Amino acid sequence: MAPITAKNYVNGEWLTTGSTFESLNPADQREVIGTAPLSGKAEVDLAVAAAKHAYESWRELSWVKRAEYIDTFAQLIKRDLTEISELVTRECGKPINEGRADAVEALHMAQYMAGLGRVPNGYAVSSEIAAKDAFILKKPKGVIACITPWNFPSAIPLWVILPSVLAGNTVVFKPAEQTPICGHKLMELFHEAGFPAGVINLLHGMGEDCGDPLVKHKDVAAILFTGSRAVGKYIQQVAAGDAFKFAATEMGGKNATIILEDADIDLAVNACILGAFKTTGQRCVSTSRIIIDKKVEPEFTAKYIEKIKRIKIGNGIKEETFMGPLIEAGSVDKWKFHNQKAEEEGAEVLLRGEVLTGGEYEHGNFVSPFVYRMQYRPNTFCLREEAFSPHVAIIPVDGLEQAVEVYNDTDYGLAMAVITEDYRKWRWVRDHAEFGLGYVNLPSIGAEVHLPFGGVKASGNGHPGAEGILDAVTHRVAFTVNHAKEIVMAQGLSTSV
Ligand code: NAD
Repeated sequence: MAPITAKNYVNGEWLTTGSTFESLNPADQREVIGTAPLSGKAEVDLAVAAAKHAYESWRELSWVKRAEYIDTFAQLIKRDLTEISELVTRECGKPINEGRADAVEALHMAQYMAGLGRVPNGYAVSSEIAAKDAFILKKPKGVIACITPWNFPSAIPLWVILPSVLAGNTVVFKPAEQTPICGHKLMELFHEAGFPAGVINLLHGMGEDCGDPLVKHKDVAAILFTGSRAVGKYIQQVAAGDAFKFAATEMGGKNATIILEDADIDLAVNACILGAFKTTGQRCVSTSRIIIDKKVEPEFTAKYIEKIKRIKIGNGIKEETFMGPLIEAGSVDKWKFHNQKAEEEGAEVLLRGEVLTGGEYEHGNFVSPFVYRMQYRPNTFCLREEAFSPHVAIIPVDGLEQAVEVYNDTDYGLAMAVITEDYRKWRWVRDHAEFGLGYVNLPSIGAEVHLPFGGVKASGNGHPGAEGILDAVTHRVAFTVNHAKEIVMAQGLSTSV
């Protein structure tokens, strides 16, 4: 397929800059998916000015009218679903089944937000004084910077862009530098859907050169960031420097599947295959720790290793592929580093993953799973830090309480799955484990747009994506109206002068 030339999109116009970067297919880096402009502060200034200008008229429209634009956009996503699915797979390496799921989730988000235009977006509440009506209203914040990661290149941008514009904000969107062409495709559809100039603007480029000035821009009222912990923490610090600026940061995880002694072991094996190896372990919610009751660990491990050996690794464009490549060469190095750390820390290696070469692997970033057994010790690097790759620890524990203690021994708090047949046990785990996304008898992965998606502790600062983000892109304002001829104050406050 011919490479696509992506452009910036500012104030309704497609723009280039002096230099470009390439987006390569991680399964076969000889294929250039496209090129995109490198942007910096000058482009950020233009895009934010356009968004600021467009805000004045966009905020005047009703929620219903704004939702109608989103409805048109949803229909375009549906029309181009196959094209988007294949583009996601070619640009970020996910198997086509996952590329399709990403596109379907994008569609669901658009459908959901289109519907939300017609539900109450504020409400009336009773006042202490009978003659007063009080309201809680949701008002937009202004220009919102949406900075997104590469691993869900169509769904995650829409988790944050669509609630923003539905609520009357305008947006400057910076997609990840690994997946600019997916960002470009979304922008083409926004353009075709007829969003007015300046409502959604797109800038391509690197985090330091383009994302950083965007985050720091004085006219950006809020930042919706999804990505790594290091960058999220930095963005929180930048936002804290401007008292008016708000940052929602959704970051990484050191997620786990907890398997209790009464678990259905076959179900547990499947949950841990899906949880650990979908998207080649490059989901924020990927299971990288399997915390298992030592009574059932030998049976589980034998079956698990057997099944991992059957995983089909290859170019994701083939339907039969289960696990695609890592996104870039640096991810292979990071995977090796985590594997080496695990060995240094005493891992008993069960599957020594390797870098795959030759044949269809020759030009891609392919590795096979690295799986090890590890006796728990507090403060162990490999059991606490995100590897974001097929790197999985099996940690035998003694019962329910130790399982949760081990689970909580990380700074992160994103996704937790527990496998058990006993409702009292999953309830105890639910109430004592620290997570933003919890699952019972399921893998630690899986999102639906009408649920909040986010974490606690170092994984997120309490403003989850998808369903959860509407609260982050609106100010809740109190508004009180007096219908009497005289003024009567609440709390018996005197009005005599
Ligand atoms: P990343 O942090 O490297 O990049 C994310 C985005 O931030 C990119 O668009 C990047 O260009 C931008 N960026 C980088 N430096 C910046 C700076 N100084 N200022 C402003 N923007 C900057 O993350 P990634 O590698 O794209 O994604 C992987 C990470 O994202 C993993 O840690 C994963 O767990 C996390 N993630 C979290 C969620 C969630 O919902 N919690 C979802 C998906 C991925």
